[in-house]
Amino acid sequence: MTKDAHSVSRWLAFDRDHLWHPYSAVRCAAPAYPVVAAEGVRLNLADGRSLVDGMSSWWAAIHGYNHPVLNQALRKQSEDMAHVMFGGLTHLPAVELGRRLLHVLPDGIDTIFFCDSGSVAVEVAIKMALQYWFVQNVPERRQLLTVRHGYHGDTFGSMSVSDPDNGMHSMFSHLVAPQLFAMAPPCSDAIDEAVNDVEAKLERHHRRIAAVILEPVVQGAGGMRIYNPAYLSRLRQLCDKFETLLIFDEIATGFGRTGRMFACEHAAVAPDVLCVGKALSAGYLTLAAAAACSKVARVLSEREPGVFMHGPTYMANPLACAVASASLDLLAEGTWQRQVERIEEQLRRELEPCSQYRGVRDVRVKGAIGVVEMKQAVDVAGLCRRFVEDGVWIRPFANLIYVMPPYVIEPDDLSRLTAAIQRVCR
Ligand code: PMP
Repeated sequence: MTKDAHSVSRWLAFDRDHLWHPYSAVRCAAPAYPVVAAEGVRLNLADGRSLVDGMSSWWAAIHGYNHPVLNQALRKQSEDMAHVMFGGLTHLPAVELGRRLLHVLPDGIDTIFFCDSGSVAVEVAIKMALQYWFVQNVPERRQLLTVRHGYHGDTFGSMSVSDPDNGMHSMFSHLVAPQLFAMAPPCSDAIDEAVNDVEAKLERHHRRIAAVILEPVVQGAGGMRIYNPAYLSRLRQLCDKFETLLIFDEIATGFGRTGRMFACEHAAVAPDVLCVGKALSAGYLTLAAAAACSKVARVLSEREPGVFMHGPTYMANPLACAVASASLDLLAEGTWQRQVERIEEQLRRELEPCSQYRGVRDVRVKGAIGVVEMKQAVDVAGLCRRFVEDGVWIRPFANLIYVMPPYVIEPDDLSRLTAAIQRVCR
């Protein structure tokens, strides 16, 4: 064993014994792979191997890793200031990012609440909806309606609107607010039954519903389900009819992933509140936002107590804002659209053959997202090991093997991802 390998095995042992990873146990047998650097679409492991990244670090690293433009934005901002409190103070990085966001967000959205993570953005959106009704003397509108198979985060409010069966709620059910769940829109074009179901729930319960919340077009961690955007147009009409707010969680889908800047553009529908995170800061720093339409902002600001009740310490962190602005400038160059189209076309072509294998239930592609749904849950650690041996980083969950690579991935590298998936399906 070389000296280096020795020291890597030491810090890996510390990691295994003392650090939690997402949805993991400490002191468990499944290894976490040690990454020492990342560049473009490659994750470089401590033992010298280099993996093609199929995950974009969970939807975030859309421009790839170690990007010179993003690095420069971060460096430059760090020379002015890393952070100042946002209570009573403000700064240009927040204003510049706000301007850029309003330029790309759907029409009607015009105020932004910056926060630290996707889950918190969902909490903020929920609080906005509850406060919106409370301050207008309609406190009984305090439940959320959502659809099954959703995933909105791991904090209590966001857990409450995530799928109650495939989430991890049961243990915490005494603290998770009871919400209303409608049938999920199907992964086919036939949306009538799902629309009728949500309509029936609204008809029956609208007097206590503050808002409807869901992930537009693609449901992520709740099942990697892709549905017909026409569902969203019908849902918008129903929310208007029953005068309930509509919240879109675009934390996974935002910033081009589905082929449009925001997934709701596939239906030309705007929500009352829209959550973003993940790719907002292109995989550099944790940053998210809940952006509201003027109607919501006005009510929260004008009605007693006249303030919106939330305010995180690292709100609008200047480093994160500067990187996010630089990322939006890269997106504004427009290359992403052709990149995502090309990825979509290649994923369709190269993942489709998987559908012939016995263990595969369905193959789905939308934008730069490719999903192979297996009939049975897979051995996540075992498959990860095989993928790493194949030189790719793909991390399945439950019965889903999926990729959402950085938009800058070259066709050869994308083929390495799809070939590795084909191999394990076979
Ligand atoms: N909403 C959606 C749609 C997500 O995919 C996620 C993260 N997987 C979240 C919310 C929560 O974001 P975070 O992990 O940053 O808290």
